[in-house]
Amino acid sequence: MINLANNHMGKWIVTSAWPYVNATPHLGNLIGSTLSADVFTRFLRLNGEEVVFVSGSDSHGTPVSVEAKRLNVPAEELAFKYHNIIKDLHERWKISFDNYTITHNPTHIEFVQKMYLDIQKNGYILEKEIESLYCDNDDLFLPDRYVEGTCPNCKDDGARGDQCDKCQKLLTPLELINPRCAICGNTPTVKKTKHWYLDLPKLQDRLTKLIEENKIIPSNARQMCLNMLAEGLHERAITRDLDWGIPAPFKGAENKTIYVWSEAVLGYITAVKEWAEKVINEPKKFDYFWKDSETKTVYFIGKDNIIFHLILFPGLILSYNNDKKKGEQFVLPYNVSSTEFLMYENEKFSKSRGIGIWIDEALKLAPLDYWRFNLLFNRPETSDTSFLWSEFDNNIKTLNDNIGNFIHRTLTFIEKQFNSKIPERMEDDEIDKKFIEKLNSIRVEAGESLRNFKIRKAIRDIVNFGKEGNIYLNEKAPWHLIKKDKKAAGHVFNICSQAVYALAILLGSFIPETSNKILSYLNAPELSKITWDSINDHTIKAGQRIKKPEPLFQKFDIEDIKKEYKKLKEEKPKEGEKELISYEDFQKLDIRVALVENVEKVPKADKLYKLSIDLGTEKRTLVAGLAEHYKINELKGKKIIVLTNLEPRKLRGILSEGMLLAAVEGDNVSILIPDKDLPLGARIE
Ligand SMILES: [Zn+2]
Ligand SMILES: [Zn+2]
Repeated sequence: MINLANNHMGKWIVTSAWPYVNATPHLGNLIGSTLSADVFTRFLRLNGEEVVFVSGSDSHGTPVSVEAKRLNVPAEELAFKYHNIIKDLHERWKISFDNYTITHNPTHIEFVQKMYLDIQKNGYILEKEIESLYCDNDDLFLPDRYVEGTCPNCKDDGARGDQCDKCQKLLTPLELINPRCAICGNTPTVKKTKHWYLDLPKLQDRLTKLIEENKIIPSNARQMCLNMLAEGLHERAITRDLDWGIPAPFKGAENKTIYVWSEAVLGYITAVKEWAEKVINEPKKFDYFWKDSETKTVYFIGKDNIIFHLILFPGLILSYNNDKKKGEQFVLPYNVSSTEFLMYENEKFSKSRGIGIWIDEALKLAPLDYWRFNLLFNRPETSDTSFLWSEFDNNIKTLNDNIGNFIHRTLTFIEKQFNSKIPERMEDDEIDKKFIEKLNSIRVEAGESLRNFKIRKAIRDIVNFGKEGNIYLNEKAPWHLIKKDKKAAGHVFNICSQAVYALAILLGSFIPETSNKILSYLNAPELSKITWDSINDHTIKAGQRIKKPEPLFQKFDIEDIKKEYKKLKEEKPKEGEKELISYEDFQKLDIRVALVENVEKVPKADKLYKLSIDLGTEKRTLVAGLAEHYKINELKGKKIIVLTNLEPRKLRGILSEGMLLAAVEGDNVSILIPDKDLPLGARIE
C-alpha cells in the first residue's frame, strides 16, 4: 500500500537548547527552545516518523561554580539539585523528551574527552600562552563570570568577564575596567597561562560552504553566520583554568577543564548515546541516528545561540569527522529553528527586578494548556514579541470561542438528541462538501506549516478551522432541522464529529492534554495510538458511542489571575529564590560562643585579619574580612559567635577553621556578641 506520508518519512534528532542548570527557565526561554521543539517532535511522532528528542541541563557553567564557592557547597551537589527542579518542571509542562539529561554525566564526560583527543590527532587543536586575570586571595585564575567590573563600552559597573548584560557586548576579562574577583571582591593580578584552541580558521572554507549550501536554515540565521564568516574566523580557546568542568584531556593540560560552551553543544550527541545505552538498552541506536547521513538534526534555539550551533558545533563535527569513513561520521546540522526574543509587557525578563513569568510560576496561575496555547499562538517567529496579559486573555477567549464551543456544541447535541451515539451520514450537499474540503485541506496546510517550522501559522490556521466549524453549524442550523427531519440533523452532527476528531489530532502537538480529553469523549484511542493521516471525513463511525462531555476550558477572570501574579511576585525575594529550611537543617549548624585571644593583620591583604580563638575545648584560627571595620584592640578579648562546622578554607595561605558571624548592610559591619556572660563553647540554638 502506498502511503502519501511516506514521501516525508525520515529519521530525526530533535534537540532544544540546554538550559543553564542554575536558573529556572522563564516563558521566553521555554518558547524559544523546549516548547517549540516539543510541538515539532509530537508532530513527527503523529506522522509515524522515527525521532529521538533530547536536551539537558548545562551544568558546567561558571555561575554554578561561583555560587557553589559562595555557598561553600560542592558545585556538583548544587548542579544536581537545580537539574532535578528543571527536569521536574519540564515534565509538568508535558515536554516529551526521550532523554533530558545533564552534562555532568559519565557518558558525556568520557565522550567529550575522547572526541577532543581525536580532534587534536586530526590537527585542529593549537596551544598558546596568554595573559589571564588571577586572584591571589582565592588562589585561582578568573575566566568569564569569575570576574566583574566596569564595561569598557557602556561603562556599566555590573559587567562580567564574558559579557556586559547592559549593552550585550561580548567581553574578555582583560577588557574590564577595575576588574574584581566575583568570589571575594579583591583586585586580581595578571598572570601567564597556557591554553588550547580550536583552529577555526582552518575550517573557514568548509563552514562557509556548509552554510551557503544549506537552503533550509532561516535567512536571519544564515545571514548572521555569513557575516561572521566574512569577517574571518578566529581561533577559539577551548580550555579554562577552572576546577568545575570536564578535565581537559590534552597532554600538559592537567588542572584545566574544557570551556563549557565547547562541551555543552556535544551534549546533543551524548544525550542520544546515553538514551540508546541506558534508557532503551539498544546501544546500536546511537550510530543508527547520529552516523547516518540521512538523519535530519534540528536545533530549537533562541537567536543568541545561532553562532554556537551553526559555526562552533559543525566546526567540531567537521574536525572530528576529518578523514573518517562514511558511516563513522557524525551528521551535520540539517536546520536550526531560531526564535526572536519574548518580552514581558514590553520589558526584558529580569529575575532581579521581578519582571516576567517563570515556568514554575505560570503553572500556579492558570492551567497548563492555556500557557502552551498562548505561547505558541504568539510564538516570536519573525520579530521580538511581548507577553501581554490583555493578549493572554484574548487568546484564551479565542481558543474557547472557536474550539471549545464548537466541540461542546457538537458533543452535547449528540448526547442529548442521539442518545450519545454518532448519527448516520446521509448524502452531502454543497455546504457539507465545502466544509469537508476545509477539513481535508487543514490537514495538508497545518502539516506543511509544521514541517516548515511555522508553528505560529499552523496553530492559527487550526483555530480558524474551529471557527469554520461554528460557521458550518450555524449555516446548517440542525436545531431547527431536527424538528422536521431528524436524519438530516444527524447527518450534520456526523460531519461535525469528524471535525471534532480532526481538531483533537491537529491540536495534539500543541495542547496534548486537551486533545486526549477530546479523544476520550469520542471513545477514540489516545494520541500516541493514532496518526495524522486519520484526519479525514469518515474516521468516526456511525453508531459509535460517546461519553458525556464536560466543557473543555474553564472560564476565568484575567483580573483575578493578575492579582495572583502580583501576590506571587511580592512573596518572592528579589534576588534568587529563598527556600525554607527545616529545624533539622538548622540543627546541623554548630554555632558556639568563642573568645578572641589574638588578632593579627594578614600580610598583603588590606581587608583580612587572622584571629586566634578559644572555644573552651579547643583553639582555632579564623580569617575574617574585618580589617576595614574594627581595630585590632576592639576585637581582642571579645566573646564572639562562630559557626564551627564549616568546611575549612585556605585564605592567603592561612587555613580558616570556621566563620565568625556578623550583621552586614553595605559597608556597615557589626559582629554578633552574646549579651550575657556565657562559658566558652556554649551552643547557639
Ligand atoms: Zn556595556
Ligand atoms: Zn578572589
